[in-house]
Amino acid sequence: MQKILNMSAETIHNCVIIGSGPAGYTAAIYAARANMNPVLYTGKEPGGQLMITTDVENYPGYPDGIMGPQMMDDFRKQAERFGTTINYELISKVDFSGDVHSVWTESGEEVKAHTIIIATGASAKWLGIESETKLMNKGVSACAVCDGFFFKGLEVAVVGGGDTAAEEAHYLSKLSPKVHMLVRRDEMRASKIMQERVLKTENIEVHWNTETLEVLGEDEVEGVKVINNKTQEESVISVKAFFVAIGHKPNTGIFEDYLEKDASGYLITKPGSTKTKVAGVFASGDAQDNVYRQAVTAAGTGCMAALDAERYLAEKGII
Ligand code: NAP
Repeated sequence: MQKILNMSAETIHNCVIIGSGPAGYTAAIYAARANMNPVLYTGKEPGGQLMITTDVENYPGYPDGIMGPQMMDDFRKQAERFGTTINYELISKVDFSGDVHSVWTESGEEVKAHTIIIATGASAKWLGIESETKLMNKGVSACAVCDGFFFKGLEVAVVGGGDTAAEEAHYLSKLSPKVHMLVRRDEMRASKIMQERVLKTENIEVHWNTETLEVLGEDEVEGVKVINNKTQEESVISVKAFFVAIGHKPNTGIFEDYLEKDASGYLITKPGSTKTKVAGVFASGDAQDNVYRQAVTAAGTGCMAALDAERYLAEKGII
């Protein structure tokens, strides 16, 4: 682990990268190889969403698949190999109003840079019901891979109908005698292959047109009260864990005052580039991609951001 010590407030880096998923590390690899001496801040979850994924089967170059955490470890090592400085800290504030940009770590240190690459990714969404919050970490979780093991041998529920929900249900089916998958429509959003995997798994029961009214239990999850939105029939499913897998929201709150966002909070970049409306600030990965949201596309836009930043520095005569 490298860290900048005793850095003067006057030091102006060529490139600060915020975030450590595929976008951030790929930006770092390209920026480091272009002699930009990038400084990367990992945030609170080094490695990002892939750290809570099991097998990644669709990243080219891994014919047998690879575990998400292993892949991110490889990305980090590759970024470090070319001289990226990695700081295991969260950036909690930014100021993009000047020619030189400032970001602040959570501990209050100001860091200045000519270019900023945003790769802050996205975080899990929650249903927003009171009982979900009350039982958070007491059986309510957004990560089957992290918490599924604690409920081995017990019935569990997964809410959502996308690839994440399908993947989590399939993962849990290996630990649990029965997985109840709660899908709010009469079809799933998940890819065909993931749907097939779920539907072929005997101990996954898909509850179609089903919405969650309440997670039941006081100090631990005891069940889930659901409603069929076609028949309006309410019922209780007895489960010991409730996994929420209904998508993600971009981590873009700290850029509120400076950058443009779409209605869902994704950063807007100029088409065909990673340029934001602020010169020298580039956005990549899930923080700006509401459409593809794959590890490989995040890595691709991380690469683009580093190339865009390099051109910007060259045009300004900085490198
Ligand atoms: P997603 O594709 O946005 O799906 C979210 C799911 O949750 C949808 O079924 C949605 O229902 C449901 N949902 C949303 N809000 C809900 C609510 N309040 N109550 C109940 N259900 C709700 O999100 P994701 O599954 O996290 O996937 C995100 C992206 O990552 C996708 O592009 C996906 O392909 C990709 N991904 C890929 C893999 C893989 O290839 N191995 C694995 C995971 C994710 P509606 O359909 O009705 O809106």
